[in-house]
Amino acid sequence: MNPSPVPDSTQRAEVRTGDFGPPPATLEVVPLGGLGEFGMNMMALSWEDTTIVVDAGVMFPDPDQLGVDLIIPDSTYLEARGGKVKALVLTHGHEDHIGGVPHVMPLFDGPVYGTPFTLALLEPKLEEHEIDFADRLKPVRPRETVTIGPFTIEFIRVTHSMPDCVALAITTPVGLIVHTGDFKIDQTPIDGQHFDLHRFAEIGAQGVLALFADSTNIDRPGFTGPELDVIDGFEEVFTSTHGKLVVATFSSSIYRMQILVDLAAQFERKVAFIGRSIDKNAEIAQRLGFLRIPSGMQIRDSDVPNYASQDILCITTGSQGEPQAALPRISIDDHRYVKLGEDDTVVLSARSIPGNEKAIARTMSHITRRGADIVTPAMKRVHVSGHGNAEELKLMLSLVRPRYFVPVHGEYRQLAQHARVARRVMAGSDRRVEVLLAEDGAIIQFDRAGARIAGQAPTGRVLIDVTRVGEVGEEVLRDRRHLAADGVIVAMVAISRHTGTLVGEPEIVARGFVVNEGEGDALFKDAAIVVMECIAIASVEERTDQGLMTEKLRVELRRFFKKRSSGRRPLVLPVLMEI
Ligand SMILES: [Zn+2]
Ligand SMILES: [Zn+2]
Repeated sequence: MNPSPVPDSTQRAEVRTGDFGPPPATLEVVPLGGLGEFGMNMMALSWEDTTIVVDAGVMFPDPDQLGVDLIIPDSTYLEARGGKVKALVLTHGHEDHIGGVPHVMPLFDGPVYGTPFTLALLEPKLEEHEIDFADRLKPVRPRETVTIGPFTIEFIRVTHSMPDCVALAITTPVGLIVHTGDFKIDQTPIDGQHFDLHRFAEIGAQGVLALFADSTNIDRPGFTGPELDVIDGFEEVFTSTHGKLVVATFSSSIYRMQILVDLAAQFERKVAFIGRSIDKNAEIAQRLGFLRIPSGMQIRDSDVPNYASQDILCITTGSQGEPQAALPRISIDDHRYVKLGEDDTVVLSARSIPGNEKAIARTMSHITRRGADIVTPAMKRVHVSGHGNAEELKLMLSLVRPRYFVPVHGEYRQLAQHARVARRVMAGSDRRVEVLLAEDGAIIQFDRAGARIAGQAPTGRVLIDVTRVGEVGEEVLRDRRHLAADGVIVAMVAISRHTGTLVGEPEIVARGFVVNEGEGDALFKDAAIVVMECIAIASVEERTDQGLMTEKLRVELRRFFKKRSSGRRPLVLPVLMEI
């Protein structure tokens, strides 16, 4: 990953610039994100003067990408298509599919199609960005179709780790394109909304030009398993826990929440959602009928201290050890309402996303120090993936039987493995499948003569910083202009590995940051004082936790520079060295 705050246009041969668009009678499909990397899924389909965009996701940065909160795909290609971009079509409401929508909607005027739950999750993001979406969000249901210029899009129900997900069957002038979105085949869906295997089979029988399919779990054998699989593991946890039960999961895992709520009802515990995003999503899911909580069972986070521990279930954010999220704060006794003690159990009901292992391990140590027990997916089946394993992906291939196959949604090794599997599935059948192993930016052309990767569109990552001041989130696109205007402040801080105390004085270095005349020395001296005070008032646990401390320093320094330099927002990078 490139930590530079400017788009890192991937260097490949034949990067096309300037004029984009397919040659006459050609369908052009360009994956703009999500191929060869995890997250920020986005794909453009163009025919003559019409471009539609499928999904617009974000990617979360590595912990070492200080000062960056979100990463979205470079939008050069879409900007070059200008007024030809006619619609955005969403498969489901995960961040890696809708998180970038607020940045894509201003690029065109047309509608955004998605299922009701997907759009409901999108709305607060648009509000936060002050985007006027009044008439632009168009709810669709499975088996409905919409027509956008030469494209007719049918929505097909799939199952995944959240409700209301669809695949797309897009009729184009050269043939049918199927895009699976994210899926697994859950045959006991919690909301009774079954995977529409029938429709995939019918479409396969009609003939499919190309299949774009999720590759996430291609290297796992067998079937993923239904969401219901976690019930037994959790039942054991509920039975054996005598104190408070705290379960950390992804804020979009509505099915997981439903299972937990049902168990809490059975074991007579009240439920509190701890953390802004999880509380908001639970509210949306309840409003739309995707999460049912018996009346009187849900309590506010501020009510938690009023109940005996054995009567409480907390469902929290922070399963990845994110410093600002609920669980890591609870784990160092820094949460207003939720404290941990002996007899309490904390369950990590999520996979650890690569790169977060250290932060998760630290959070687990903090929890253990509080005397609480920890249950992880390695110990009990308290998490199940939302992506289909190899057998499910094979089933999709044999149902759809495409002429061309393009693996998507995964790192390169997974795309390549999916390609191998596809050839094996189709080997010996009368239908030949041709695999196009594409990466981000590949210009895939389909016409009467066939299909090919015909070039490379500019792609890359745009790094975004969400400025956090208390509870208010304000977002700043950190592009070149921004950096040029406000510059960078680096705070080098050496602390003792054992005590967490400051070693020497913090060093503040600025680049491209314009200081008012005669103010420079005093400003940086005061910034150093801010750092020293911030460390002095932190607890030993905070001080020895690099992730937490870096985040704290970042917030404080950013606030300081904003106040002292008439609202400018330099990129603030605290660098914590343990000595
Ligand atoms: Zn998903
Ligand atoms: Zn996804």
